[in-house]
Amino acid sequence: MLVVMKAQATPEEIQAVCDHIVQLGFRPHPLPGAQRTAIGITGNQGEVDRGNLASLSGVAEVIRVSKAYKLASRDVKEEDTVVRFATGAAIGGRDLAVIAGPCSIESREQAFAIAEQVAAAGAQFFRGGAYKPRTSPYAFQGLGLEALKIMSEIREKFGLAIVTEALDSETLDLVAEWADVVQIGARNMQNFSLLKKAGRLRKPVLLKRGMSATMEEFLMAAEYVMSEGNYEVILCERGVRTFADHARNTLDLSIVPALRHVSHLPILVDPSHGTGRRDSVLPMARAAIAAGADGVMVEVHNHPEKALSDGPQSIYPAQFAEMMQELEQIAPVVGRNLLRRVTAAAAAE
Ligand code: PEP
Ligand code: MN
Repeated sequence: MLVVMKAQATPEEIQAVCDHIVQLGFRPHPLPGAQRTAIGITGNQGEVDRGNLASLSGVAEVIRVSKAYKLASRDVKEEDTVVRFATGAAIGGRDLAVIAGPCSIESREQAFAIAEQVAAAGAQFFRGGAYKPRTSPYAFQGLGLEALKIMSEIREKFGLAIVTEALDSETLDLVAEWADVVQIGARNMQNFSLLKKAGRLRKPVLLKRGMSATMEEFLMAAEYVMSEGNYEVILCERGVRTFADHARNTLDLSIVPALRHVSHLPILVDPSHGTGRRDSVLPMARAAIAAGADGVMVEVHNHPEKALSDGPQSIYPAQFAEMMQELEQIAPVVGRNLLRRVTAAAAAE
């Protein structure tokens, strides 16, 4: 159920409707829009009695939301969600967002060398795994807290916002403390207790699509986070498992317009995990922007042959710079813009 407030509804009227919803035993989710505020109602198993709600002051109408996902749906919020950061960057607006960095933080030197180059090429976000979800328990598991500290130094020096993955409830608290965006990986997309806990954070969540998740399952995972009050969810397509054997995964770019149609949440594409192949990353990054994504997340390594994880899909810094130039040219064709914000620190190096 959704309560649509009148354009001229006052904050007091909005609060009174929220209080009423709480009294009914449900949870209100006020979602301010450009024209008016909508208040999503969750926690109800069946119908909410709309009679009372519709007669409250400031209410324009009460609508039933028929989709399984509510807060993630465009029915509840018509305009695109834009997630903004203290660094000045944003994900979801007209400007494209680019997240770049190594799969894993391996050392301070490695992380700083890559950060300097991606910042110089104009990335606004730095990624790097501190806690890695590896298929083998014998593979490199990440530097943990040390990596979080290295990335927070990188934010200070280069002005890049930090994106890193939380693997479980324990690492979620640490990641939320040190990073700007909490990534929830493909393997955790349906870890419902982790999603709920991420929903209680006040940090944006970058949610990667599970490798066999349908669009509805993907949006229901986002809904888990939002249902707990965290509305800053960024969706990320990263490839799904198919019978194709020419790539690690099949990057499903067709989900971009499909998501855009039904959801207001920002949509990123990860062509690195989506293909697993260095030579496919640039073409698929271009395709992602052409398909309407709000940005890309790519793995960049200065010595991919020595990388402790995902070397074969990591592009070189020079390729990253080339990708940025290409995306800058494609952006206006699809009504977007790529601001290559070269920080003073990167330029001075
Ligand atoms: C990653 O981004 O490093 C990662 C592990 O991604 P995914 O969860 O999509 O496999
Ligand atoms: Mn990786």
